[in-house]
Amino acid sequence: MSSSDTFASLAALQPILDALASPVVVEDSRHRCVLMNRAFRQFMHLPPHAPLGLRVSDVLPQAQARRILAANERVLASGEDCRNEEEITDPGGRLRWLLTHKRRIEIGGEPMVVSVVTDITALREAEAHSRYLALHDPLTGLPNRALFADRLDQALARLQRKRTAHALLSLDLDRFKQVNDTLGHHAGDELLREFGRRVAALLRPGDTFARFGGDEFAFLLGELSPDFGLDRFCARILDAAAEPFSIGGHPVFVGASIGVVCFEDANAGRGELLRRADIALYQAKLEGRGRYSIFHEALDEGRRHRARLEAELRETLAGGGRGLELRYQPFVGKAEGQVVGVEALVRWMHPRLGLLGPAQFLGVAEESGLIAALQDWVLATACTTLARWPALRLAVNVSRAYLRDPQLANRVVTLLAKTDFAPQRLELELSETTLAAADATVLGQLRALRQQGIRISLDNFGTGYSTLAHIRSLEIDKIKIDRSFIHQIERSEDSGAMVRAISHIGQAMHVEVAAEGVETLAQRRFLETVGCSELQGFYFFEPVSEADLAQAIGSAPR
Ligand code: C2E
Ligand code: MG
Repeated sequence: MSSSDTFASLAALQPILDALASPVVVEDSRHRCVLMNRAFRQFMHLPPHAPLGLRVSDVLPQAQARRILAANERVLASGEDCRNEEEITDPGGRLRWLLTHKRRIEIGGEPMVVSVVTDITALREAEAHSRYLALHDPLTGLPNRALFADRLDQALARLQRKRTAHALLSLDLDRFKQVNDTLGHHAGDELLREFGRRVAALLRPGDTFARFGGDEFAFLLGELSPDFGLDRFCARILDAAAEPFSIGGHPVFVGASIGVVCFEDANAGRGELLRRADIALYQAKLEGRGRYSIFHEALDEGRRHRARLEAELRETLAGGGRGLELRYQPFVGKAEGQVVGVEALVRWMHPRLGLLGPAQFLGVAEESGLIAALQDWVLATACTTLARWPALRLAVNVSRAYLRDPQLANRVVTLLAKTDFAPQRLELELSETTLAAADATVLGQLRALRQQGIRISLDNFGTGYSTLAHIRSLEIDKIKIDRSFIHQIERSEDSGAMVRAISHIGQAMHVEVAAEGVETLAQRRFLETVGCSELQGFYFFEPVSEADLAQAIGSAPR
């Protein structure tokens, strides 16, 4: 058959091919198009009478055309059918994915390739979208935990070949929960998105910034050059979080805490690095939030120590508090140094570590939720002991975490009833900072306690931020001037003046004024002249055990 006969018979096929919905094209061994149907023309945006003899390389970018032609060559050479996935840029500039079924045929003795095209762009786009969803946080569009883990694994794999400085940062927003609770989840969502945008603007290409969920974020900073200022970077991120967010036209203030772990090899795996960053983050929060902390071994040691202490304290409390002890430090009234009450101070005779002071285990008790049980033990034990001294008042320190219990007043009153202790004899000491941070629940509980006759005393006065309004609205019974002022009385005129002023304010507000940490006769005299009604300190008594209390009280300096 001559080639004109061939084309004539092919032309006869045209109406049949045009009836097919799928694009079909037939190319000869020199890659010239000898036949194409209407669907193919439309698909390739070709004019209705596009010239035959066109090559794929005439309409597609060269790299794409080369791959298609190579597939055609294979089919021509092998004679085997093939399914080929092709990526092409259509004339509109949009990337499309095609699945072509190719078959070698012979027309007029000439080998040709017929390609039947299926457009699978929608499928591939849907797949890409679900892959995106699986690896990104839908709220902020940031990588999620899974993608972060993958990037970290990749970085660790690279570090096995070559050491370079990397940093992993774990970040929590401070006070985010309050935003959600008070302004609603929409406001919280908006804040998270805005924070994501602010931080993204501070990153280098290649850095990973991910949201793990809630207010938890993480960074992976790779290939850090020696002049990369990690400190500066953290400071910038903290600034981005601390700057007010405008939510619904209102300024909203949060902040962030960051834990950093630096690494340059793959010795610690992914899980360990994340754990270390979290330990450093915990430290940053412990130090007061709004800051960053860098992981070092001692932190880990500290965490292990706290975890062990917590387990041991839990066991001790479950066993009825065996090992816990109280010391009692008397305080004296104005009248000739007469003991009017004692303050209970907790100790722990630890089987491994010896006698521990409150500073060594109260933090652990507060963080682990054991403080309530510990505080109950202190109250019950002290009330029982003080049954022997019915004329003395009892002061017990209570921490912030204990005050948060919405059933606190009931709890204390029940405890007093059990030990048959008159509420009027009990004084709860809370630190000034605790009061300053008190919310409506805490204030409500404090009022309920006062209505039962229990006295509220503000400990360490002068070191916190309580306002006079606070004191008046709470009808505090007593303020205890912090011992740091008392120590300075003899050395600094300012301290003396401060103590005098506090004392005068207290008297004007009809609040009893006490002083703690009195160590010398001169301090005692000064405090008496400015009108402090109760004094406590080593000058009078050190804290003593229950066994020594009777003797100590009998020997007060007059
Ligand atoms: P705080 O309530 O201010 O107790 C006074 C602390 O100062 C006691 O230390 C006491 O031993 C010490 N101190 C007393 N007089 C003097 C003095 O003249 N000079 C000096 N330098 N120090 C003096 P301690 O027993 O180590 O207690 C420390 C803190 O632990 C207490 O401070 C209190 O806030 C807290 N704490 C003690 N027991 C409990 C408790 O049962 N529950 C709670 N939540 N906190 C407690
Ligand atoms: Mg106290």
